[in-house]
Parts: sequence; C-alpha cells; structure tokens
Amino acid sequence: MSETTTDAQPMTGLIKRDRGAHNVGLGEVPRPVPGPDEVLLQVYATGICGTDLHIQDDEFASTPPVVMGHEVTGRVVEAGPGAEDWLGVRVSPETYFYTCDRCEACLAGRRNLCPTRKSIGSHVNGGFASHVLVPQRNLHEVHASVGEHAGALYEPLSCVAQCLCDPAVASPGDTALVVGPGAMGILTAQVLKAQGAEVTISGTPGDQQRLDIAASLGLTPVLAGDLEDAIPGIGFDVVADASGNERGIDAGLRAIRKGGHYVQVGLTGKPISVDIDLVCLKELVVTSGFASTPRSWHRVERLLASGAVVLDPLVTDVSPLSAWETSFARTRKADGLKLMLDPRMDA
Ligand SMILES: [Zn+2]
Ligand SMILES: [Zn+2]
Repeated sequence: MSETTTDAQPMTGLIKRDRGAHNVGLGEVPRPVPGPDEVLLQVYATGICGTDLHIQDDEFASTPPVVMGHEVTGRVVEAGPGAEDWLGVRVSPETYFYTCDRCEACLAGRRNLCPTRKSIGSHVNGGFASHVLVPQRNLHEVHASVGEHAGALYEPLSCVAQCLCDPAVASPGDTALVVGPGAMGILTAQVLKAQGAEVTISGTPGDQQRLDIAASLGLTPVLAGDLEDAIPGIGFDVVADASGNERGIDAGLRAIRKGGHYVQVGLTGKPISVDIDLVCLKELVVTSGFASTPRSWHRVERLLASGAVVLDPLVTDVSPLSAWETSFARTRKADGLKLMLDPRMDA
C-alpha cells in the first residue's frame, strides 16, 4: 500500500536480458509496489505463447532488460490508493501498461494500435515472476467456472475475439476451417463454433494430442494431408489461419470458397511467400486483429460466462519458473497444447 519503491524486496523473474537472439534467463528484479490506481498480482499462472518464442528469437520488439510473460492470471494481493476494491479478487489483466489515451487509435477505443503503447512482458515487466504490477483499469475478474491456471488464457482468447468478433466473422450454417490446432487455433475454432459455424481444424501428424483435444470440444479434426477431401462443396465459407506457417496459410487460401472470409490470426514472425493473387481471383474478404481491446475482453467475459468457450482443457502442462527452458522448448516443438509457468511452484 506504500507509494514508494524503496526497500523493494527482490523476486525472481524470467528476463529478456538484451537484444539479439536468446539472452533469456532467470534473474532478480525488485518486487514492485503499487502506486495510485495500480495493483500487485500474485501470479497463479502465465502462459507461454508464440510471442514469447519470437521475443526469445528477437523477432518481436522488446525493451530489455524486461520480465517476459503477458498471458497472466493471479490474485490481487496489494492495491495502491484508489484500487482497494480489487484486493483479493482473482483476475486476468489486459496487457497494456501504458497507452497515450490521446491519439486517434486510443480515442477510438483501439489502445492496441496506439503508437506509444507499452505492454507487459515486452516493454514493462510481465508475468513470468512471482508478482506483477498492473493498472487497475486493465483488470478483469476471472469467471468462477475457469480454473486457477486457465485464467491465463483470457489474454489469447481476447486476441482471438479481436480477430473474429464485433462484427462476427461467421454466421449460423457456415462451414469454417481453422489451420493450426495450437491454443490460438482451438480458441479460434471455439469462437467460430459459438458464432454458429461447423468447424474443421487441421494439423500435422505431430499435432495428434491437440487434434484429440479439439475433437473433445466438438470440433472436426483433420490431418493437413487429408484436407483436400474435407473441403465442403466449393470451399469453406470462412478460413482462419492460426498456424503462422507459410504452408498452412497457402493451404487455407486454397481451401476457401470464392467470396469467402479469410482471417489471419497467427503471426509468422518473418516475411513469407504466399500467392496473394488468390485474394483477388477469389474476391476474398481478408481481415485480422492485433492484440486486444477493452471491447474484445468484454466479449471474452460473455463467451466464458455463457459456456460457449471453455479454457481448462487447453492447459496441458504447468511447471515452475525454474523449468522454463524445457517448457519453452516443448512449446517450440508443439509438444503439449498450452504450457504454463506457475511461480508458486518455485517456492
Ligand atoms: Zn500471447
Ligand atoms: Zn494512444
């Protein structure tokens, strides 16, 4: 409850130490003290995401040294002046620590596009540590039906909602294909299903565990090699790429029908080569979304409260911070679905 950061206790965090590939490891940082309208969360879980791997590889902008991790859930254990109402609440925070609140994007409710945006996990210390500091306006209470670790999936789900909702991409009766059965893919597929589409999700033979989880959620899994035979009629009405993979994107553009709606959810991390003529020849509508907005977070709250989307089945592994290297390597190999770090396990 103090307003100063003197005599701060140290805590261990997973830090991007410097620019350049790798330069990631555990280190000590001061445990922050919340100022006005800020809270301190005790971290229950932080998800490992493709963005973390891109930061590790220096393919995604960051300002080191910085504690990584932006898919966070935990409980409010300290509150600065004005934020006391949040004490004790289990929450998941939006990732923007700072936006200007004056630019055209901010004033239009699109803080995700603010040019001076600073987010936790890349520019401000994030969730791979025992505690993380966040502004109270970023907080969302985690729904009682969502498990302690799965609360960290609010953030990726809000990014998916930013790509697919308001307005809805799919209509009841649509056929949809999601390429890539990672966490983003399975969340994408669940949201398209909630919008009324019949959803097929494609993956490689190495994705079998992920495809099994997708099947358990009422999605139709298909191996990429068999996709041709799974294409309905003249093609899928909606295709969403959540693989960020050149071959996957190409397959998606070929499987979509003329006049269909293509959504790019995944990031490739580097320029790739695709036949963009397909967009013209098929008169595709192409949309995307970057990160999340307050609106997409509110959409997430309703999707979870209604039970249309579930998060817990996606959490396949939870490890202490000390095991970060193995968990990052497994995420890179698509071994498991959503791997998380729970810093309480290090104590
Ligand atoms: Zn993420
Ligand atoms: Zn702004």
